Amino acid sequence: MTELEASRIVEELRNLDIGTVREDEPLRRHTSFKIGGPARVFVEPDSQSGVVAVLQWVRDHEVPYFIIGQGTNVLISDQGLNAVVISTSRGLKSIAVDPPCLRAGSGVLLTKLSNTAAKAGLSGLEFAISIPGTLGGALVMNAGAHGSSMVAVVKRVTVWDPVHGVREIAAKEAEFEYRQSRFQKTPWIALDATLELEPRDFAAIRELMTHHMEYRLRSQPVGEANAGSMFKNPLPHYAGQLIERIGAKGWHENDAEVSMLHANFIINRGSARAIDVLRLMRRIRCAVFGDAGVILRPEVRWIGPGEGGTNTSWDNLWYEEGAGLKAPCE
Ligand SMILES: Cc1cc2nc3c(=O)[nH]c(=O)nc-3n(C[C@H](O)[C@H](O)[C@H](O)COP(=O)(O)OP(=O)(O)OC[C@H]3O[C@@H](n4cnc5c(N)ncnc54)[C@H](O)[C@@H]3O)c2cc1C
Repeated sequence: MTELEASRIVEELRNLDIGTVREDEPLRRHTSFKIGGPARVFVEPDSQSGVVAVLQWVRDHEVPYFIIGQGTNVLISDQGLNAVVISTSRGLKSIAVDPPCLRAGSGVLLTKLSNTAAKAGLSGLEFAISIPGTLGGALVMNAGAHGSSMVAVVKRVTVWDPVHGVREIAAKEAEFEYRQSRFQKTPWIALDATLELEPRDFAAIRELMTHHMEYRLRSQPVGEANAGSMFKNPLPHYAGQLIERIGAKGWHENDAEVSMLHANFIINRGSARAIDVLRLMRRIRCAVFGDAGVILRPEVRWIGPGEGGTNTSWDNLWYEEGAGLKAPCE
């Protein structure tokens, strides 16, 4: 997408009158890592129909696009994205409680969802109180904590895909697994989801949520710029324990530093770039492989330039960025 094309796209998207459209928006403003170069075009639709209108427009005009929720599980390239980046944070905000179910737009924050369920006396989302990010991002990642995850509560999801448009799928079609789902392999966009919960006493739900939040505050660098766990747990091992064992706490590359509180977290001390985080991840991965013979795989999603404007493959990325990560120590 050239500069001229970007300006034309901005103009045409503004003509759709669906919300805010900006050019060269710094994505570090939209990620919890506070890292990421500019989005060539950044759109924040105000409604679900606005989100669908933009999706249809980019499909019809064959323009590369990328969906972003709260940006709490992404590492975005310093070069930014030569694409239309669509934010769900304003347009997909509906919540409807119909006990024992709850239907919510995919831009709703998990913490808000967890609180809403608790107030309605519905149990099942207590685990989500300590996970930042949106429902949409949580579906993509099958986000989970404290022994549960999204797969335990999702019943149906309304998705948009470039071929069929808007339709509803059953949870099993989403193929949820540990930090994985079919959303990562197909161009599905989650618009909303229906969650099935269980009636329970409000006080009991509240107690469990408080317990989860206190644990989180004790064990993770809450309040610092980060993107949660950098690596998936290579079960039966825990990534944090393997990284702690190699003495990596405090390791840093410029302003990217391994948290002293939790070794599987990298924090941005202020002006870390994506390349700093990548280099640190590479060092960790190599050292853990040398120490324990275990290959760590990233949990955070890499979002960077590639064919078509976006590329979410770590192998391609690390090759492109010169960090070369086909094997842990290459
Ligand atoms: C301090 C901290 C703690 C965390 N703790 C946990 C934890 O305990 N457990 C856990 O599982 N995760 C955890 N995370 C990671 C993160 O919060 C979750 O993965 C969250 O669900 C991501 O949501 P998001 O809206 O930020 O997604 P984003 O980071 O915006 O996006 C993640 C991916 O989902 C895609 N996406 C987003 N919305 C949609 C949509 N509507 N349709 C299709 N694709 C979409 C994006 O394109 C991207 O590929 C933590 C993160 C932080 C910063």
